[in-house]
This record gives sequence, structure tokens and C-alpha cells, in this order.
Amino acid sequence: MEIIIAKNTGLCYGVKLALKIARETRRRRDGKVSTLGELIHNPQVIADLENQGVASIEALKDIKEGTVIIRSHGVSPEIYKILKKKKLEIIDATCPIVKKIQRLVAKLAQENKEIIIVGNKEHPEIRGLIGYSRGRGRIVENETQVGPMSFKKKRAVLAQSTQDLYLFEKVVSALIEKTEELQVFNTICHSTQTRQRATSELASKVNALFIVGGKASSNTGKLYQISKRILPQTYFIESAGQITPKMLRGARIIGISGGASTPPEAIEAAVERIQQNFEQHSHEESRIQCQR
Ligand code: SF4
Repeated sequence: MEIIIAKNTGLCYGVKLALKIARETRRRRDGKVSTLGELIHNPQVIADLENQGVASIEALKDIKEGTVIIRSHGVSPEIYKILKKKKLEIIDATCPIVKKIQRLVAKLAQENKEIIIVGNKEHPEIRGLIGYSRGRGRIVENETQVGPMSFKKKRAVLAQSTQDLYLFEKVVSALIEKTEELQVFNTICHSTQTRQRATSELASKVNALFIVGGKASSNTGKLYQISKRILPQTYFIESAGQITPKMLRGARIIGISGGASTPPEAIEAAVERIQQNFEQHSHEESRIQCQR
């Protein structure tokens, strides 16, 4: 049996930065410290933060005092206004790459362009981005939603930072048919693109692949979809305990990949679990290759 860990797996720059900011804020501030929504989409990390005294609060109305940390996904200008009105101290942990996309949306809105944002309408990053568009933004989740759109002389299109590149390309192709002058901004971040590439390469070399990460994590979900297109024996797991011998049946080479919010310990636990399961059924030697 061989286990191969995908290149570029694990926490991305924006998530590491947000975690560092949250922990430093807790050390330096007295009183309540909360994050508006989960800092990252990973249940183990969130539980760890709660133990350290950083509460994760979903609804704005429930944050009444102390310091509030804006997570890496960012928020709309409206949310900043409400937080200021509540007289809360704001610590901004928005990923600098997301900030750049927010500035781009604001600039395009100022130029009076229709802005197509390719992403999930429920995702916090998208809810934040749409707030910078001054009513000129339109969220598109897939290429079929472009079909009913009218022909326009000018449009701009950009993507959620964690979007699937393949899906973005499909939406752009559909928009070309509907727009005379289409401005395309590939705003999928470098971390996301390298993880997607590494996962699709890995899916074509292994017999089973485990995508480790929180179910609410957009980028981890995209890795699952990408791998599943190539390899039907792809599994999305939140923790190592979900790996069963049935999932490993017939697999000689097993891949593991994780999203931008998957901590290294979750990957290590998955390796151990696979080895334990395998040992119960075989005495063959196992080999681990790490492509990180
Ligand atoms: S996935 Fe990219 S944009 Fe999102 S937090 Fe990580 S580095 Fe920033």
C-alpha cells in the first residue's frame, strides 16, 4: 500500500494570517473577543479557538461588546458601519487577496459596469463582495444561469477566490456569447489554483482519494468536486474517524488532499487511520510519499 499526500495541502496564507491575528488579539485584549462567523471552516480549529477564549458568533445581533475579528472571507461595507455603530473594536483579518478583490469590485462599480461574480451566493466572501458593487453585482453560480441573460455591450466578470477554475472558464465562455466587450478578471487565488492542480494530478494516479476538511469549506468542497470528476472513489471527510475499511477496499495507492482550512494534524490523523485500517487486513509494507 502506498499513501500519497497532495502537494500544497493545508492551511493557506490567508487562513494562517487570520489565525495568527485571532490568537494575538486574544493575548493582547481583556474582555470578550469574538469572530463574526467561524474564522475558518474547520470544526476542530474552531473548538480550539473557543477553548482559548475566542468565541465564534454567527449573528451580528449577538455580538454586544468587546473586540470583534473579521474573518479571512471579509465583510461588506455595511457590516463595518453596523459594528462601528455598536462601538465594538474591529480587528480586520480579511485576507489581503480578498481585500484586493473587494477593491476591484468597488472600482468596477464606480465605472458603472455590470459585474458578474462567479461564486456561491451563500458564501460569506460573496456576500461581502456584493456589498462593494453598489447594486451593480450579479452572482452567477454556473454557466446555465448565463443562458437567460440579455446581450450587453460591456460587462466584467470575476470569481470567488476559491472558485473551481474549470467552472469559471465555463461561465466566461457562456458570457462571451452574451457580451460584446467582456473584461475577465481571474481572481481565483494562487493557493486555490495550486491546490486544485495538485488534487487533480493526484486523482489521476491513485485508486482512492480522501479530501479532508470542513463540509462548510468552499475550497475543500471544490477539491472534492474536481477529484470526483476524475476518480469516482473520492471521499469528502471531516475527520479521520470517518475512514472505513470499505472505502479502502481494492485500493493499492491512496491519496490524501486537504483544503486551505485543513490543519496538518487532520492530514496526519487520516494517514494513521488508513495505516491502521490497512494493517487489520494486510501485512504488506506501507509507504508514504509526501508531495507537499
Ligand atoms: S484561499 Fe486564497 S483568498 Fe482565500 S483566504 Fe486563502 S489565500 Fe486568501
